[in-house]
Amino acid sequence: MSYTSSATAQPVARLIDELSRLPGVGPKSASRLAYYLLRASREEAVALAEAILDVKERIRLCSLCFNTTEADPCAICSDPSRESVICVVEQPLDVVALERTGQFKGRYHVLHGAIAPVEGVGPDKLKVQELLARVRTESPDEVIIATNLGLSGEATATYLHRQLAPMGVNVTRPASGLPSGAELEYADPQTLGRALLGRRSL
Ligand SMILES: [Zn+2]
Repeated sequence: MSYTSSATAQPVARLIDELSRLPGVGPKSASRLAYYLLRASREEAVALAEAILDVKERIRLCSLCFNTTEADPCAICSDPSRESVICVVEQPLDVVALERTGQFKGRYHVLHGAIAPVEGVGPDKLKVQELLARVRTESPDEVIIATNLGLSGEATATYLHRQLAPMGVNVTRPASGLPSGAELEYADPQTLGRALLGRRSL
Protein backbone atom coordinates (compact mmCIF):
# COMPACT_ATOMS: atom_id res chain seq x y z
CA MET A 1 0.00 0.00 0.00
CA SER A 2 1.32 3.43 -0.91
CA TYR A 3 1.17 6.30 1.52
CA THR A 4 1.68 8.94 -1.11
CA SER A 5 -0.61 9.97 -3.94
CA SER A 6 -0.85 12.70 -6.54
CA ALA A 7 -2.25 14.84 -3.71
CA THR A 8 1.04 14.55 -1.78
CA ALA A 9 3.33 17.54 -2.33
CA GLN A 10 6.51 16.44 -4.12
CA PRO A 11 8.96 17.37 -1.26
CA VAL A 12 6.82 15.40 1.20
CA ALA A 13 6.68 12.40 -1.14
CA ARG A 14 10.45 12.58 -1.50
CA LEU A 15 10.95 12.63 2.28
CA ILE A 16 8.61 9.66 2.73
CA ASP A 17 10.48 7.83 0.00
CA GLU A 18 13.89 8.49 1.64
CA LEU A 19 12.67 7.56 5.12
CA SER A 20 11.09 4.32 3.94
CA ARG A 21 14.54 3.14 2.73
CA LEU A 22 15.76 3.05 6.34
CA PRO A 23 15.94 -0.38 8.01
CA GLY A 24 12.86 -1.19 10.06
CA VAL A 25 10.87 1.76 8.64
CA GLY A 26 7.90 0.69 6.53
CA PRO A 27 5.87 3.07 4.33
CA LYS A 28 3.39 3.72 7.14
CA SER A 29 6.08 4.75 9.67
CA ALA A 30 7.87 6.75 6.97
CA SER A 31 4.69 8.66 6.31
CA ARG A 32 4.13 9.29 10.03
CA LEU A 33 7.73 10.52 10.47
CA ALA A 34 7.48 12.78 7.43
CA TYR A 35 4.31 14.47 8.69
CA TYR A 36 5.85 14.77 12.15
CA LEU A 37 8.85 16.58 10.64
CA LEU A 38 6.51 18.76 8.60
CA ARG A 39 4.92 20.02 11.82
CA ALA A 40 8.21 20.21 13.77
CA SER A 41 10.04 23.50 14.29
CA ARG A 42 12.69 24.47 11.79
CA GLU A 43 15.35 24.06 14.54
CA GLU A 44 14.29 20.47 15.22
CA ALA A 45 14.39 19.54 11.53
CA VAL A 46 17.76 21.22 11.00
CA ALA A 47 19.21 19.46 14.08
CA LEU A 48 18.22 16.07 12.60
CA ALA A 49 19.58 16.92 9.15
CA GLU A 50 22.86 18.17 10.66
CA ALA A 51 23.25 15.08 12.85
CA ILE A 52 22.96 12.90 9.74
CA LEU A 53 25.51 14.99 7.82
CA ASP A 54 27.82 15.07 10.83
CA VAL A 55 28.14 11.27 11.08
CA LYS A 56 28.77 11.06 7.34
CA GLU A 57 31.47 13.71 7.47
CA ARG A 58 33.20 12.92 10.75
CA ILE A 59 32.87 9.18 11.29
CA ARG A 60 35.16 6.78 9.49
CA LEU A 61 36.47 3.27 10.05
CA CYS A 62 39.40 2.56 12.36
CA SER A 63 42.28 1.33 10.17
CA LEU A 64 43.06 -1.46 12.68
CA CYS A 65 39.72 -2.88 13.84
CA PHE A 66 37.31 -1.29 11.27
CA ASN A 67 34.93 -0.11 13.94
CA THR A 68 33.34 3.30 13.35
CA THR A 69 35.39 6.08 14.91
CA GLU A 70 36.11 9.79 14.87
CA ALA A 71 39.84 9.32 15.59
CA ASP A 72 42.02 6.72 13.86
CA PRO A 73 43.06 4.42 15.49
CA CYS A 74 39.91 4.27 17.60
CA ALA A 75 39.79 4.73 21.39
CA ILE A 76 39.70 0.95 22.03
CA CYS A 77 42.66 0.16 19.73
CA SER A 78 44.66 3.02 21.31
CA ASP A 79 43.95 1.89 24.89
CA PRO A 80 47.16 0.27 26.23
CA SER A 81 45.28 -1.47 29.05
CA ARG A 82 43.35 -3.67 26.61
CA GLU A 83 44.34 -7.37 26.65
CA SER A 84 45.91 -9.24 23.75
CA VAL A 85 42.60 -10.82 22.69
CA ILE A 86 40.77 -10.02 19.44
CA CYS A 87 36.99 -10.41 19.40
CA VAL A 88 35.67 -10.74 15.84
CA VAL A 89 32.17 -9.37 15.23
CA GLU A 90 29.95 -8.72 12.23
CA GLN A 91 28.90 -5.11 12.81
CA PRO A 92 29.87 -1.99 14.79
CA LEU A 93 26.65 -2.40 16.81
CA ASP A 94 27.99 -5.74 18.09
CA VAL A 95 30.95 -3.86 19.62
CA VAL A 96 28.45 -1.64 21.45
CA ALA A 97 26.60 -4.74 22.74
CA LEU A 98 29.80 -6.43 23.92
CA GLU A 99 31.17 -3.28 25.58
CA ARG A 100 27.86 -3.00 27.44
CA THR A 101 28.50 -6.40 29.11
CA GLY A 102 31.62 -5.02 30.82
CA GLN A 103 33.06 -8.55 30.52
CA PHE A 104 35.49 -8.01 27.68
CA LYS A 105 38.83 -6.25 28.04
CA GLY A 106 40.39 -7.05 24.67
CA ARG A 107 40.11 -5.41 21.26
CA TYR A 108 37.72 -6.00 18.38
CA HIS A 109 37.74 -6.70 14.67
CA VAL A 110 34.63 -5.73 12.70
CA LEU A 111 34.07 -7.85 9.57
CA HIS A 112 31.22 -5.67 8.21
CA GLY A 113 29.00 -8.62 7.43
CA ALA A 114 29.03 -12.40 7.37
CA ILE A 115 29.66 -14.97 4.67
CA ALA A 116 26.41 -15.57 2.77
CA PRO A 117 27.04 -17.38 -0.56
CA VAL A 118 23.38 -17.15 -1.60
CA GLU A 119 23.57 -13.35 -1.38
CA GLY A 120 26.96 -13.32 -3.08
CA VAL A 121 28.88 -12.33 0.05
CA GLY A 122 32.18 -14.20 0.12
CA PRO A 123 35.15 -13.64 2.47
CA ASP A 124 36.61 -11.17 -0.07
CA LYS A 125 33.70 -8.77 0.64
CA LEU A 126 34.52 -8.75 4.37
CA LYS A 127 37.49 -7.53 6.43
CA VAL A 128 38.90 -11.08 6.54
CA GLN A 129 42.31 -10.53 4.95
CA GLU A 130 42.77 -7.59 7.31
CA LEU A 131 42.00 -9.88 10.27
CA LEU A 132 44.47 -12.55 9.13
CA ALA A 133 47.16 -9.90 8.65
CA ARG A 134 46.45 -8.54 12.12
CA VAL A 135 46.68 -11.95 13.75
CA ARG A 136 50.01 -12.49 11.98
CA THR A 137 51.51 -9.20 13.20
CA GLU A 138 49.88 -8.98 16.65
CA SER A 139 50.04 -12.70 17.60
CA PRO A 140 47.14 -12.32 20.06
CA ASP A 141 46.67 -14.79 22.95
CA GLU A 142 43.19 -15.60 21.67
CA VAL A 143 40.74 -14.83 18.86
CA ILE A 144 37.08 -14.95 19.90
CA ILE A 145 34.73 -15.40 16.94
CA ALA A 146 31.58 -13.63 18.10
CA THR A 147 29.64 -13.69 14.83
CA ASN A 148 25.88 -14.14 15.09
CA LEU A 149 24.46 -17.62 15.72
CA GLY A 150 22.47 -17.82 12.46
CA LEU A 151 23.55 -19.75 9.36
CA SER A 152 25.86 -17.09 7.92
CA GLY A 153 27.40 -16.32 11.31
CA GLU A 154 28.19 -20.02 11.83
CA ALA A 155 29.55 -20.35 8.28
CA THR A 156 31.78 -17.35 8.93
CA ALA A 157 33.02 -18.82 12.23
CA THR A 158 33.86 -22.14 10.53
CA TYR A 159 35.67 -20.36 7.69
CA LEU A 160 37.68 -18.12 10.03
CA HIS A 161 38.59 -21.05 12.27
CA ARG A 162 40.00 -22.91 9.26
CA GLN A 163 42.08 -19.87 8.29
CA LEU A 164 43.28 -19.11 11.81
CA ALA A 165 44.02 -22.62 13.13
CA PRO A 166 47.25 -23.07 11.11
CA MET A 167 48.57 -19.85 12.68
CA GLY A 168 48.63 -21.56 16.06
CA VAL A 169 46.33 -19.02 17.73
CA ASN A 170 43.70 -20.15 20.27
CA VAL A 171 40.32 -19.68 18.55
CA THR A 172 37.17 -19.63 20.71
CA ARG A 173 33.47 -19.03 20.24
CA PRO A 174 30.93 -17.78 22.80
CA ALA A 175 28.05 -20.21 22.73
CA SER A 176 26.33 -21.14 25.95
CA GLY A 177 23.23 -19.21 26.86
CA LEU A 178 22.54 -17.53 23.54
CA PRO A 179 19.58 -18.98 21.67
CA SER A 180 20.40 -20.39 18.24
CA GLY A 181 20.01 -17.77 15.54
CA ALA A 182 20.59 -15.02 18.10
CA GLU A 183 21.90 -11.67 16.97
CA LEU A 184 24.42 -10.17 19.35
CA GLU A 185 23.14 -6.62 19.12
CA TYR A 186 19.76 -7.65 20.55
CA ALA A 187 21.08 -9.93 23.32
CA ASP A 188 20.71 -8.64 26.86
CA PRO A 189 24.07 -7.71 28.48
CA GLN A 190 23.86 -10.40 31.20
CA THR A 191 23.24 -13.27 28.77
CA LEU A 192 25.89 -11.97 26.38
CA GLY A 193 28.37 -11.49 29.22
CA ARG A 194 27.80 -15.09 30.37
CA ALA A 195 28.14 -16.41 26.81
CA LEU A 196 31.43 -14.56 26.50
CA LEU A 197 32.78 -15.92 29.80
CA GLY A 198 31.65 -19.46 28.91
CA ARG A 199 33.37 -19.51 25.53
CA ARG A 200 34.79 -22.77 24.21
CA SER A 201 37.80 -23.54 22.05
CA LEU A 202 37.04 -24.44 18.43
ZN1 LIG B 1 40.09 0.31 16.33
